[in-house]
Amino acid sequence: MRISVIGTGYVGLVSGVCFAEIGHDCLCVDVDAGKVERINRGEPPIHENGLEAMLRRNVGGRLIATTDLRAAVHDSEITFIAVGTPFDGTRIDLGFVREVSRQIGAALRDKATFHVVVVKSTVVPGTTDEVVRAELEAASGKLAGVDFGVGMNPEFLTEGVAVDDFMRPDRIVIGGSDERTIEVQRRVYASFSGTPTLATNNKTAEMIKYTSNSVLATMISFSNEIGNLCSALGGVDVADVMTGVHMARYFTSTLPDGRIVKAPITSFLWAGCGYGGSCLPKDTKALTAHGQAHGAPMPLLDAVIATNLGQSERMLALARRHHPSLAGLKVTLLGLAFKEDTDDMRESPAITLARSLVAEGARVVGYDPVARETARAALPSEVTLAPTLEAALEDAEVAMVVTRWSEFQRVPDLLRGRPRQPLVVDGRRVIDPGRVARYEGIGR
Ligand code: NAD
Repeated sequence: MRISVIGTGYVGLVSGVCFAEIGHDCLCVDVDAGKVERINRGEPPIHENGLEAMLRRNVGGRLIATTDLRAAVHDSEITFIAVGTPFDGTRIDLGFVREVSRQIGAALRDKATFHVVVVKSTVVPGTTDEVVRAELEAASGKLAGVDFGVGMNPEFLTEGVAVDDFMRPDRIVIGGSDERTIEVQRRVYASFSGTPTLATNNKTAEMIKYTSNSVLATMISFSNEIGNLCSALGGVDVADVMTGVHMARYFTSTLPDGRIVKAPITSFLWAGCGYGGSCLPKDTKALTAHGQAHGAPMPLLDAVIATNLGQSERMLALARRHHPSLAGLKVTLLGLAFKEDTDDMRESPAITLARSLVAEGARVVGYDPVARETARAALPSEVTLAPTLEAALEDAEVAMVVTRWSEFQRVPDLLRGRPRQPLVVDGRRVIDPGRVARYEGIGR
């Protein structure tokens, strides 16, 4: 099939490259000419495991990047919208989605054949049928369901393992206002015929995405609330508590051959310094704002958000147990990206921590094995970036583990034998407390 994808960020580029890999011809469109050039050179503008090799296999053949949206729409039978949907402080900002819908609509005005437009961006329930459809109809002068189709296909990939998630999906959710729109999307995903697929209306597809993210955010904040209580009580470690909780048969199964299998959801039932990233923070806020606007407040989700916001402060409180003032101290942030295996800094807990530490007068050094350019742009200018883990730990008085990079397993070995030992504040519970001289961990 000939597919166009608008937006070449984490979702658009990964989708486009994977579509090409499974045999489709894919036109990837972005307004950012620099990104388009990099993609056409085979250099992904984002860090994602396996993406570069897959891009290089397909670029110039089944995948071409372009800034020409109109030509891409004319030269494809289905267009996926994968632009950003930030939270503007009050509600979801649909500015990019509206703009792209208008441009696609204008391109459809003189396109003779039936075209399907699918929203892949995360949008609040009702957006596809109300906002996107209206923009497309107004700009094209044509009718949805007759001249073109409007669908919603939420993306569930996780940054860091996005290519793998896309190529081995756990589910495919296809929304559509009519059977033809659903059918065209089924053909896009035909090579994943063994994957459970749910065809539904657009609003339900939108709601499935928000509910999926909200479940994860709720489990993380729930675990953090339990961890914070453990900390306050003393003599009980949330890591031991959660290990016991995970043993329940609804989290861990024993297979007939005796193998013990833990449900992947247990990875969200650990305490830490909070969730970040481009999805959970903005999506939970957008959903509660949407609920509020529709007369259905969501107090549980509001509390999930509030608990998360407090987790950075918990890290500082642990440090203050040893250093009542952090002013003048060298504080190293180990890990800057919001999670391991990505360079994405959006809403990373490292940003909140860095801002608070700088405001308090600490000398802040950051280290991340991958997030460098993105970290420089996101962190206060006072933060110095260290080139290596060794350099980051040099003379550190406090070292805070913010991201679960596997490299940080080396921290105890690197610190061994030093005359002055930094306090390790472990926001991800990855360091063995017995292997460093001074240790505090979230939920301990
Ligand atoms: P992103 O910000 O990384 O990428 C968006 C891209 O769209 C940018 O490259 C931007 O230049 C481009 N763009 C903006 N306006 C454009 C226009 N008019 N024409 C062409 N291109 C334009 O965003 P992302 O992280 O890929 O997220 C995209 C959507 O997918 C969001 O709604 C997000 O919530 C959702 N989502 C993200 C993830 C994730 O892990 N990042 C996972 C699932 C869903």
